[in-house]
Amino acid sequence: MEHHPLINLAYVVAGILFILGLKGLTHPRTAVRGNLLGAIAMLIAIVATLCNNEVLGYKTIALGVIIGAVVGAVMAIKVQMTAMPQLVALFNGFGGGASVLVGYAALSKESPDGNFLIENIAIACSGLIGAVTFWGSLVAFGKLQELDFLKKPVRFSGQQWANLGLAALVILLGLSVAWFPNNFLFFLFLIAASLLGVTLVIPIGGADMPVVIALLNSYSGLAAAATGFVIDNNVLIIAGSLVGASGVILTRIMCKAMNRSLFNVLFGVLEATGEVAEADEVYAGKIKSTSAEEVAMLFDSAQRVVIVPGYGMAVAQAQHAVRELASELESRGVEVEFAIHPVAGRMPGHMNVLLAEAEVPYEKLKEMDEINPSFAQTDVVLVIGANDVVNPDARNNPSSPIAGMPILNVDQAKTVVVIKRSLSPGFAGIPNPLFAADNCLMYFGDGKQAALDLNRAILEG
Ligand code: NDP
Repeated sequence: MEHHPLINLAYVVAGILFILGLKGLTHPRTAVRGNLLGAIAMLIAIVATLCNNEVLGYKTIALGVIIGAVVGAVMAIKVQMTAMPQLVALFNGFGGGASVLVGYAALSKESPDGNFLIENIAIACSGLIGAVTFWGSLVAFGKLQELDFLKKPVRFSGQQWANLGLAALVILLGLSVAWFPNNFLFFLFLIAASLLGVTLVIPIGGADMPVVIALLNSYSGLAAAATGFVIDNNVLIIAGSLVGASGVILTRIMCKAMNRSLFNVLFGVLEATGEVAEADEVYAGKIKSTSAEEVAMLFDSAQRVVIVPGYGMAVAQAQHAVRELASELESRGVEVEFAIHPVAGRMPGHMNVLLAEAEVPYEKLKEMDEINPSFAQTDVVLVIGANDVVNPDARNNPSSPIAGMPILNVDQAKTVVVIKRSLSPGFAGIPNPLFAADNCLMYFGDGKQAALDLNRAILEG
């Protein structure tokens, strides 16, 4: 289908801006500009699409835009910073859902005697990836929200075979939709694909979730690209492919960070079989708690301090207090660095975003591989709201559910101070032997309050 040359030109401009936007997002310094370029590209793409004279029913579109904008804005404004990952998972899923609806609309529009094989294949792809993304993202949302029935990985015997069988059925139904398009087959196909979306994600849990989130992100792009083929829209194909490709790259990065192959994450081939130790066994009689004054004394004689933020820093919104603490220590001649684990928090780059918001200089943030060799020469490590990413079981206990996941080796420092409210586990739901280690002191309290109290104790000390 031919578009007006100006519309095609606008699509090319939008495509270029999307690419420049992505390039900008690769560095914190240029990220805001990158985001802005992406938003401008999206605006150009939408306006160009609306100028297409095939577009009918502007009233319906306006209604959709208004309802969507209001719901989206209210959700984005109201959401707690810590619930951001869930919101992103949900919005991701909506992208998949939209692809399914467009596929259905395109199928319903076809005249019964036409030959639409290629378009029908695109419709089937759009439906398949869209439905898997929608339902998979809803399950991911539930897991991030820590809903009781989804918190633990749901596993049963023969699960992999059941999934394989379901995937084969979905492909068969998808081919049937392509060759004999009708609503009944399409609905049957959608039900099977939706079920596949749920069953693919429910067995995955704990520390593997970051990989799944990145993968679903990539699926939502692929679903959009498939939809682009359905409605013959180049910019949707370009933008969808960019999201799909960057999602795959992120998935690879996350797999590397977790030391897992994608196959193992999805099908649990190397799933650990060992029993998880009871918390009482790990902690009984070995926990030493400390106070702000005691930690201030440790800082007094320290030359090098490393701060390790985790999800709890996000919950406590402690990033500003932590930055003030770091500045205070630096003003006293202490060398301070931040150790960033790639999956700390609940979304990729979570800690970087929080610390950038608190204006911690980028060069102070050190990635895991860079900082790990230096823990042995560190006087005090201050762990604030991190748990799984500093759990030495990943390194020392081959039967641990997080065995093999690279961690920050904070236990090698002279002294480790852990700020958290209790001995509760992190996202992976397992005890952490670090808390019982000889060189570890527990500072029980809310992350922000603890950082403020530490700062006060240093000033008074
Ligand atoms: P964890 O989830 O392991 O631990 C967070 C800790 O923060 C908890 O043990 C909790 O203990 C503490 N905490 C909560 N609230 C507060 C507060 N107000 N003040 C102080 N402490 C608090 O976090 P990590 O960052 O170490 O690890 C991230 C985990 O999340 C990994 O398992 C990762 O795989 C997973 N994950 C990561 C994603 C990503 O993309 N980054 C996505 C999905 C999952 P207490 O209640 O005792 O205070």
